[in-house]
Formats: sequence, structure tokens, C-alpha cells
Amino acid sequence: MDKRRVILWSLVALFSMMVCLVMVLSFAGADAEKKVQVAIDPGHGGQDSGSTYDGVEEKTLNLNIALYLAEELDERGISYILTRENDSFVSLGDRAYIANDAKAELFISIHHNAIKNATSANGTETLYYPNSAEDCKLSGEELASIIQRHLITELGTRDRGVISRPNLAVIRKTNMPACIAEIGYLSNANERGLLVSDNFQRLAAKALADAIEEALGRIEE
Ligand SMILES: [Zn+2]
Repeated sequence: MDKRRVILWSLVALFSMMVCLVMVLSFAGADAEKKVQVAIDPGHGGQDSGSTYDGVEEKTLNLNIALYLAEELDERGISYILTRENDSFVSLGDRAYIANDAKAELFISIHHNAIKNATSANGTETLYYPNSAEDCKLSGEELASIIQRHLITELGTRDRGVISRPNLAVIRKTNMPACIAEIGYLSNANERGLLVSDNFQRLAAKALADAIEEALGRIEE
């Protein structure tokens, strides 16, 4: 081979290697971008306070637990997206869109319950959309059972069970197993005392993180 040919072939080889490298990097980049395991949805926000009792607004309790949950997930290396990170208004459609667009594997909405004329009502319940994610390894009901079990064990609140709610927009429009955790009753004075405590909020976040870890184990196994 003469010198020019050697140089030409070297250039071709170098060019091919660079093309390969660019392709590998772009695939890795796309994968890293796409990988969101959990969408965390703190209910209400902005002008929508949720229910308010004795100056305690539901939207604030929801956000506090969601932010503690995000810390827990960071520590465990679980990737997530928050539908809101501060006191801003996000529509129900946008919340589902954020989760779907991120291709999240799970959707967990955090709320608190209230009932005007039965202030003795108390306890924790988890709502799910009955037909969500049919092609997924985990049904909405199974996800709800996992969440409910961890919340009750950790918080020691009254177990109101898991409840099918086919008409709730935010869990109906999401493509992945989706639940709403109703942590406790804001309308119950005793329970409200617990709900506002930092320690209780951290415990709820830990319970949700444990539940998420278990649910992801079922999906990703
Ligand atoms: Zn709510």
C-alpha cells in the first residue's frame, strides 16, 4: 500500500469510529432522559388550596410530604418527576400529561381527606383507577394495596382500605398504574394535629418511598 492509501484508510477508520461514538452517546443520552420511575403528584396548589381547616391548607401538607418523598427517593437512587415543586397551580390534565410524557412507571398523587358534617371521620385510604395500565405487571389495585399497607404500618392510622375510583381524572388519564394516597382527615381535629407535624410528614414520605421501592421491584423484576 502506498502512503496515501494508508492515510485514506486511517481517515475512514477514524471517521467510522467517531460516527459510532456519537451514536452510542446519543442513545445513552436519550435513555438517561427517558428513565423516570415515579411521577409524584402533590395535590392542588396555587389558587386551589384543597380543603382548609383551622388555617391548615391541604395543598401545603401535600407538597411537604411530596418534597420529603423526593429526598427519600434521591437517597435510594430512584428517579422521579414532580408535577409541581412549589405552590403553583397545575391542571389535572397537565398532571397526567407530565407523567405520561416522562413515561413514568408509576403515578402517585398525594392528598388529604375532609368531610364537613362528620368531623369524627379519620384514617388513611388509597384510591386507584380500576383499568389503568392493563399491559403492566402491576395493576392500579395492586399498587394501591402496597401503598396502603406501608402507610398503615408506618403511620398507625385507621385503615380505611383501598377504593376503586373510575371517575377521577388525574388517575384515569395516566398511562401507568396510578393511585391517590389520602394520608389522613384534615377535618378531624385530632388527626389534623398529627398531619401538621413535621415528623408525621416525614414518616408518610418514608412509607410512600418503601411502597414505591416494593412496587418497582414487582414491575422491574
Ligand atoms: Zn385533595
